[in-house]
This record gives sequence, structure tokens and C-alpha cells, in this order.
Amino acid sequence: MELGYSSQIYLDYNATTPCKESVVKEMLPYFNKHFGNASSSHHPFGWLAKDALDESKNMISKTLGISQKEFIFTSGSTESINSVLKGLYKKNKSTRNHIITSKAEHKAVLDVCEFLEKEGAKVTYLDVTSDGLIDIKQLESELSKDTLVVSIMFANNETGVMQPLDLISQLCKKNRCLLFSDATQALGKTEMNDFFKQVDFACFSGHKLYGPKGVGITYIKEKSAVYLDSFIQGGGQQSALRGGTYNIPAIIGIAFAIVQADQRLIEEKKRLEYLRNLLQNGLSNIEESIVNGLNVDRLTNTLNISFKYIDGEILLRSLSTSLAVSNGSACNSAGVNPSHVLIAMGISPTLAFSSLRFSLGLYTSKKEIKNTITLVSKEIAKQRESNILWERREV
Ligand code: PLP
Repeated sequence: MELGYSSQIYLDYNATTPCKESVVKEMLPYFNKHFGNASSSHHPFGWLAKDALDESKNMISKTLGISQKEFIFTSGSTESINSVLKGLYKKNKSTRNHIITSKAEHKAVLDVCEFLEKEGAKVTYLDVTSDGLIDIKQLESELSKDTLVVSIMFANNETGVMQPLDLISQLCKKNRCLLFSDATQALGKTEMNDFFKQVDFACFSGHKLYGPKGVGITYIKEKSAVYLDSFIQGGGQQSALRGGTYNIPAIIGIAFAIVQADQRLIEEKKRLEYLRNLLQNGLSNIEESIVNGLNVDRLTNTLNISFKYIDGEILLRSLSTSLAVSNGSACNSAGVNPSHVLIAMGISPTLAFSSLRFSLGLYTSKKEIKNTITLVSKEIAKQRESNILWERREV
């Protein structure tokens, strides 16, 4: 498939992915031909929509190995994160008001935690190691009888680093507290075999796995649902947790995207690992470059790399006509702060500013990777040529 700007190489798949044409095809009839409301139970327009809803739920349930009662549709992960963390706090704050998260979470989690702190919650922000893993010992020592929920992501959007959810889950169970995991970047990129046994709540976004934007899923373990307050009242849809008319085309879209991602997972994961390693090796040949999260489990599509004596912003701008990459999560790329994830990993602000995230996807080719290595290497050499600090560096 040709992506929008055909002369550009797109390596920003962790920011978003194009909706697959086969997915769009499944969605299209439900915008106009089969436009009924899934809650209209007295005529065929509604029945058709309800059938599509049921079939989509069935596809998701079978593919993820979870019960149809255990998930609801949202507008995306940001909504899921808001509703789970706020919904849990609202219902349980009088008995447990402590939340544990990490300094390397997505801003969607960190901003909600900050909001809840203002509402009276006690929030602990765990440190991460230089490779981006949370400190399990610190988690163990911070857990207490007041801890309501631990919110730790499965895979980091900037570095691809995957957290040891098995250990985290064991500690949460031992302490009888809930575990929420933001798995937005993991679904479709890595196996989720034990994931749903480990967590109580989780979230996903359709647009990260070649589905449409504006639709997501909140996973709610059946036995943990009792701790959650409803998010959006009105109409009683989705077990009265999130009212409002079902967005049938989007629901069909995310269902097909999940099934297709599952079908190609093993092969695609391997293909992307090969391409990512090719890119990693090529860019590591550039002097004074450091791969972030190198020594731990990472998503196979992601490479985060810092180049000393380079201004990442200038580099991004000069590459932007030929290469779409990112210098942090898309959600904070408008800001001037260095990546909070890299800072949490102990990287200096200067080096964090000199870092790029390459995220590969379904339409990435070997030719594109080779061209990327050439483009980035040339641009870095050019920038350094005129950088006096580079000339005077100690070697
Ligand atoms: N969590 C992670 C790890 C993400 O990468 C993103 C998106 O970048 C989000 C949450 C928010 O997802 P959305 O913007 O689809 O709500």
C-alpha cells in the first residue's frame, strides 16, 4: 500500500497507523446502508446493527481469549485510562486511596494521576532503571494496605520496553490490590497469552493496530468490575458503565483490526525484528550513538536512539520532508520539554533532546530501512560538521 506522502518514509507507527483497506471495507456499509441503532430493538435496522455489534464482540472475545462480558468499547485509550483510574478512585477512596504508577508511563496516565492527587489521592511514581524497567523491589516496598491500584504499562510507546507484568501481578495479588495495564502499544505487536490472567483492567486503541481512530477497548475483569464506578451515564449501554449510542462502524473496525493483527502476529513480529535490528545496527555505526532500552525485552518494531552532539529538533526538521519519525510520544511533541521517559531512565536533558524514536510497521520495507540509515547518517554528519562542540569533544 502506498502511504499518503509517497516520497516520505513513514516510521512513526507507534504514533498511529493507517486503517487497513480490508478493515475500511468491512466498516463502510455501516455508515449508511446499515445505519441502524444497535439499541433499536423493534425493527430490522436495529437488528442488523445489533448483529454486527454481537459479531464484533464475539470476534474480539475469541481472539483475545476473554469473555464478552469483560470489555466495553470507548473512544480510545485516553478515555479508558481516565475512566478506570477515576472510576476506581471515586468508588474506593474512603477505604483505599493510594495509587502506584511509574515515571515512564504515558502522559495519559501521568496526567490523570496528577488530577487525582489534587482530588486527595496519594500517588507514588516509581523510578525506572537505565533500561526503562520499573524497580520491582521499590514496588514491593511501596505497596500497602491503602494501595488501591497499580498502573503499569505493558510496553512503552517511546522505547518499546516491556515491563515484567508477571512479577508485578504476583505482588498485586499478594497485596490484594488491583492492576491496571496500559497495553495500547502491545496489542498486535506481541503475544498477550498470560496478560489477561495478570491484570484486572487494561486499555487498547484501534488506531495503533491498523484500525480506525476514535475507538478503543477497556478490559474489565469480571470479578474486579465491582470496584469500578460508571463513567458515562445515559442510556444504560455497556452494562451502564458507558452510556451512549454504539459506534458500530468503529466497533467493526477495531474487531477486524484485532483479528487480522492476531493472524499475522508471529510472522510480522519476526519481520519487524529483522528490519528494526538492521536499522539499529546501521544507526549504531554512527559515532556516539546510544540505543535506549537495549538490554531488556522490547517491542520488535521500536528503536529509540540518542545521538550525542546533535539537536534532535533540528534533525527532525531537516529530515521531515523525507522521513516521518518522532522525538518522543506524539502527545507531547508539541511541547519543548525533553522526553519524560528518557529523563526517568536517567538520560540527561541534552541527550534526551538528541534522541529519535523509529517505529516500524506493516508497510515498512528493507529498502526504506536502508534509505533511512543513509538519510540519518548523512544529516548527522552534516550537523556535526558545523558543531564546534563535536570538534572539541574528548575522544
Ligand atoms: N497509552 C499509550 C502507551 C499510547 O501510546 C497512547 C497513544 O499514543 C495512549 C495511551 C493514548 O491513546 P489514544 O490517543 O488513542 O487515546
